[in-house]
Amino acid sequence: MSLALSSLLFVWQQSRATPNPRLVAIGLAVLLTAVAWLIFALVRRVFKDSREAHGKTTDASPRIENSAAFMTASMQGVIRKLREQEKELERLHRVEKERAEHTERLSEEVTRNMPAGLLMVNAQGIIASANPAAEQVLGVRGLGYRRYSEVLGESCELTQLVAQCLSQGKIFRREQVDHKIPSGETRRLGVTISPVRRGEEKVSGAICLLSDLTELAALQEQMELKKNLAALGELSAGIAHEFKNALATISGYAQMIRSESSDGEISDHAERILEQTRNITHVVTEFLKFARPLVISDEPVELQPLIERALDEISTAASGVSIHAEGDFGIVAGDEGLLRQVILNLARNGAEACEGRTDGRVVVRGEIAPGGETPSQRITVQDNGVGISADAMPNLFHPFFTTKARGTGLGLAVVQKIILQHGGLIEARNHPSGGAVFIVTLPARRAQPSEAVELRKDAIPI
Ligand code: ADP
Repeated sequence: MSLALSSLLFVWQQSRATPNPRLVAIGLAVLLTAVAWLIFALVRRVFKDSREAHGKTTDASPRIENSAAFMTASMQGVIRKLREQEKELERLHRVEKERAEHTERLSEEVTRNMPAGLLMVNAQGIIASANPAAEQVLGVRGLGYRRYSEVLGESCELTQLVAQCLSQGKIFRREQVDHKIPSGETRRLGVTISPVRRGEEKVSGAICLLSDLTELAALQEQMELKKNLAALGELSAGIAHEFKNALATISGYAQMIRSESSDGEISDHAERILEQTRNITHVVTEFLKFARPLVISDEPVELQPLIERALDEISTAASGVSIHAEGDFGIVAGDEGLLRQVILNLARNGAEACEGRTDGRVVVRGEIAPGGETPSQRITVQDNGVGISADAMPNLFHPFFTTKARGTGLGLAVVQKIILQHGGLIEARNHPSGGAVFIVTLPARRAQPSEAVELRKDAIPI
């Protein structure tokens, strides 16, 4: 081709210098030949390419000179590789998805079955997740997707702790708070709150672990009280005894003055001294019951007749209040006289709380709980009186705590002491429909108080 062009160039230069028809003809012939050859070569290539493109060629391996085939083959190779990689990615994705689902199921099962309550609050203050134990501890159903301050109460201590954790990222470990649940009951909660952070960023939520320590706290208080009483009891019982002797002497002289004096004013004064000594003697007698170490006999006590007799006694004193017993009462091991004292004190308090009501009612209810080897007897004394005020609730069982003008404040302290000595438990609550409820639980077989505590240590503080 280049030869044809150079000869053509030569002919053209010659013809420009001296125009010669022969030379021009030769030049034209060479040019035509070159063009014809060029067309032939192009047509041949086009045919060959299209044959190969339609697969008519039997040579499958790409060759360097056949660039289109080479390109196609390379592309197909790349596509095949990409498909394989896509499949591998799909497999890995499936495995990861299964693993994630498994982990999610596992964590869901753990949170659902854990004994402690779990609350997760997001940065906007919405409860993102809550387990059934949290609903039970807080006494609220359906906690999820509600504002925590609404559910817990705007001004309660627990709300304030969560708020501090969300705003300042503060951690609270093993705090104890008294929390009032919607039914009106106050529970002692063990609380651990920690913030959720992503990296070093600000707080994006709070995790709150809750457990109900009410029973455990009550037991600890009772054990503490029992220990203190043992020491105090010996000492104060001796002093109270001296008091009683002195009171008996004062009372004796006052009686003498009253009977021997003819002066109306003097016998009137003597009568007042007698009245006061009677009051003080009553207080000292009650205190002795409380302070003296109790010696409890271990005889079987049939509760049904004991309760009926005690209620008869109260009914005659508290007219206008209906007092009755219902439910199942079995046999407990203990001291009949002391257990009668318990029923008397609780039912009397119930009747006094109903004073002024025309429909006053005290119900003593019995229930036998089959607790495996040691069934327990539950005795509930419920009234529809004024109920226990929030101020009185924490002090109920403290000696000398009273809200009554003529009360000694020893009735419930004595009750608690007797029940503890019988290896039992006593709790006080307000009933949602009004009035107070005192719940006594006694083991059918009298266990030692320390044993009773061990049995109830299932509420673990977190
Ligand atoms: P007292 O009866 O001499 O006051 P208690 O120890 O029996 O002593 O009771 C202490 C306090 O507990 C009472 O003053 C009263 O405030 C409260 N209380 C006891 N029982 C009830 C009840 N059923 N309802 C309301 N409050 C009660």
